[in-house]
Amino acid sequence: MNEYDSNRILDLVKKINYIPTKNLNEACCYILNTCHIREKATEKVYHDIGRVKKAFRKKTKPIVLIVGCVAQAEGDILLKKEKYIDAVIGPQSYHQINDIISKLETKSKPINYTEFEVIDKFDSLNSLKNSNNKISSFLTIQEGCNKFCKFCVVPYTRGAEFSRSITELVLEANQLVENGAREITLLGQNVNAYNNQNNKLSHLIFEISKIKNLKRIRYTTSHPTDFTKDLIEAHQSCEKLMPLIHLPIQSGSNKILKAMNRKHTIKDYLEVINSLIKVKPNIKFSSDFIIGYPGETYDDFKETIKLMKDIKFINSYSFIFSARPGTPAFKLKNIDQKDAKDRLVEFQEIAEKVKIQYRKKLTNKTINVLFENKMRDQNKYFGRDEHFNSVIVESNENLTGKIKNVKILEGNHITLYGEIVTNLNYNSFAA
Ligand code: SAM
Ligand code: SF4
Repeated sequence: MNEYDSNRILDLVKKINYIPTKNLNEACCYILNTCHIREKATEKVYHDIGRVKKAFRKKTKPIVLIVGCVAQAEGDILLKKEKYIDAVIGPQSYHQINDIISKLETKSKPINYTEFEVIDKFDSLNSLKNSNNKISSFLTIQEGCNKFCKFCVVPYTRGAEFSRSITELVLEANQLVENGAREITLLGQNVNAYNNQNNKLSHLIFEISKIKNLKRIRYTTSHPTDFTKDLIEAHQSCEKLMPLIHLPIQSGSNKILKAMNRKHTIKDYLEVINSLIKVKPNIKFSSDFIIGYPGETYDDFKETIKLMKDIKFINSYSFIFSARPGTPAFKLKNIDQKDAKDRLVEFQEIAEKVKIQYRKKLTNKTINVLFENKMRDQNKYFGRDEHFNSVIVESNENLTGKIKNVKILEGNHITLYGEIVTNLNYNSFAA
C-alpha cells in the first residue's frame, strides 16, 4: 500500500512542479514514506535521515517530510527528536502535501498533519489521474481495520475501515490499463472486508474484470473471517482472478489465535482453504506468521509447524513478535527472545523446504507468464506466473505486457528460469 501511496504522492507533487530524481544528493525535497508495522521501521527512518544529513552537510538543507504510519504514530516524538524533519504527514493526510510544501518553501515551523481524513483524501486523489504505468499495478480499494488484533498498529495508524466506491475504482482501474497495466492487485489492509453501499469485493472484481485489456486480477491482504460465499464463488467464475491467495494465519495454535484476538480458529481457516480448493483445484496459498507471541509455548509453536507442513504454503512471511507501543499486546510479557529466535530459524527452514519441494515440481512444467519488464543490459525478460512466482526467460522479441507459455527448466527459491514453448497457443496482446 505504501508503494501505491508513494505513486499517488508523486502524482500530487507533479502539480507543483516537483519531479522525482535518481540523484539523491541533489534533491531539494525528501519524502520518506514509512511503515510502522514492526519495530525496525522506525529505526530505519532515523537511519535514512542520518544519510540525508550527511549528504547535505555542506549544502542547503532540503525539505524533509516523513509520511505514512510512522508519522501517524510517532509524529510529535519525531519532530521533537529530529530537528531536521520539516513535517510529519499521516497516511490519511498526504493529499495536503502540496500545501505543506508551499508553506515550507516560504519557511515556517515544523508541521504535524496527522488527522484521519480518509474521505477527503480519496476525494482529492480522484480528481487526479493515476499516472502509474507498470504492467502490474496496485490499486487501493479499502483502508483501515476494525478487527483490532492485539499485536497490530493498523487500526491506530490507518484508522477505521473505509471502502472506496465502485465507480471511482473502475475509473482508476481504466486509467491504469490505459497506461499499460495488464494486471491489477486490489489492495486493502482487510481487502475482503471491502463494502461500499453493500457492494462487496466480488462485485468490484466482476466490474473491473470487464476492462478488456486487463488480463489478471489479484487482491491482498485477506482476512479469514471475511471470506464470504460470493468471493469464494468468484474464484470459480472469474477467469481473470489469479489462483493465489495471501491469507495470513499468524499461528497454528488456537490458544494463541484467541490470545491475539484473531476471531477465527484453525478449523475456520481450514474451512476457507478447503472451500476455495473445491471451486478452484489449482489454487495456492501464502501466509504471514508471528513467531514467539507472548504465551507461545514450544507445543503451540509445533502446531504452527504442523500447519505449514499440512497446507504447504508456497510462500510465507514470518517475523518474531514485535511489541508495538499503543497496542494491547505491548504490555504483555515477552517470551525468552533466544527461544523466539530459535523458533523463527526452525520455522523458516521448514517453510523453505516446503517452498523448494513445490518449486522442484515445476521443472519441465509449462506455465502461463505475464512479462513485466526487460532486464537491464540483458536480453532477458522478467515476469510472473499465475501463482506470483518470478520467472525469467531469454528472448529477442519484446515480451513486455505479453502473456506466454513458458516451460520451466530450472529454478531456485527466488526465481524460476524457463523458455517460451510456443507461439501458437498463447494469449498474446500488445502492451
Ligand atoms: N490484515 C492482515 C491480516 O489480518 O491477516 C494483515 C495485515 S498486517 C499489516 C501484515 C502482517 O504484519 C500481519 O499479517 C502480521 O503477520 C505482521 N505483523 C503485524 N503486527 C506485527 C507485530 N506486532 N509483530 C510482528 N508481526 C506483525
Ligand atoms: Fe492488523 Fe490485519 Fe488484525 Fe487488522 S486484521 S488488526 S490489519 S493484523
